[in-house]
Amino acid sequence: MEYAEHVIDLVGNTPLVKLNALSSALADGNGPTVLAKVEYFNPGGSVKDRIAVRMIDAAEQSGELKPGGTIVEPTSGNTGVGLAMVAQRRGYRCVFVCPDKVSQDKQDVLKAYGAEVVVCPTAVPPDHADSYYQVSDRLVEEIDGAWKPNQYANPANPASHYDTTGPELWQQTEGRITHFVAGVGTGGTISGTGRYLKEVSDGAVRIVGADPEGSVYSGGTGRPYLVEGVGEDFWPETYDASIADEIIAISDADSFQMTRRLAAEEGLLVGGSCGMAVAASLELAERLAAAGQNDAVIVALLPDGGRSYLTKVFNDGWMSSYGFLPTDETDATVTDVL
Ligand code: PMP
Repeated sequence: MEYAEHVIDLVGNTPLVKLNALSSALADGNGPTVLAKVEYFNPGGSVKDRIAVRMIDAAEQSGELKPGGTIVEPTSGNTGVGLAMVAQRRGYRCVFVCPDKVSQDKQDVLKAYGAEVVVCPTAVPPDHADSYYQVSDRLVEEIDGAWKPNQYANPANPASHYDTTGPELWQQTEGRITHFVAGVGTGGTISGTGRYLKEVSDGAVRIVGADPEGSVYSGGTGRPYLVEGVGEDFWPETYDASIADEIIAISDADSFQMTRRLAAEEGLLVGGSCGMAVAASLELAERLAAAGQNDAVIVALLPDGGRSYLTKVFNDGWMSSYGFLPTDETDATVTDVL
């Protein structure tokens, strides 16, 4: 019989899928190959399962997390799902702190895994007493046996990508990957995966960050944007600035429109940060095609699935209330279809 002992044994080894429709116009069909690493195939539904397993393993080994302890983390949802999944197996309590821009669906998923959720305002600076960073610090002090994984500073975060995501991409592309594109939140994905790919290719693989317009990674001030899970208003320790060769800023409108195209044209129902990464990848692919580099193999990492965003990205009313629908919108029935 072939089965896993537990769902957490199924984390990683996600598939690569070619983005045929979206890349078909490049160099009249002879342009760079654009592939997507589809992380919603992880059992918790996102790339964050990888760091959750690794951070908990490391904390158990170091003694920071003791039997019966409580995991407290500020998370936009995906890290929480991963942590809650592992905690359920190993008998830990979970308390998650989220900014209020996080969808109700995402909060409900965390609760379904048995976690407690504390919601904080988005529109306050990180050092404000009500910010989700400060509230989580306070909870760690107040709860006995609390441990904060701190995905923004935990070396197990980039290390999980160095040990899994990077080697998977190198093997899956048989060493032919030339560009890796990922959105930057904590920076764990791009720093860990990028470091591995650079080392294994002697610096040949180019690492490209995708960032919401307004976020610090692309030179912004932290001005608010609506894409979830990416961009920051500070520089986390998990982000290694020496890894990315380039950062491409993408607007909310472009991110969300590309997210809808991924569902409608590629059959990939994914989250807004995926649309952002693919928009950056196609911008890059166009540039490479124009330079005649049609043998390039670009891989975009798609962090999560789209079901948590049905009332936002995939809802015409929500999209048009922010002016995110193109004026010649032809797929107005997309929400009916979904
Ligand atoms: N997209 C989504 C939906 C996420 O939850 C995250 C994690 N914050 C990212 C992208 C960015 O990944 P990383 O934190 O590794 O930079």
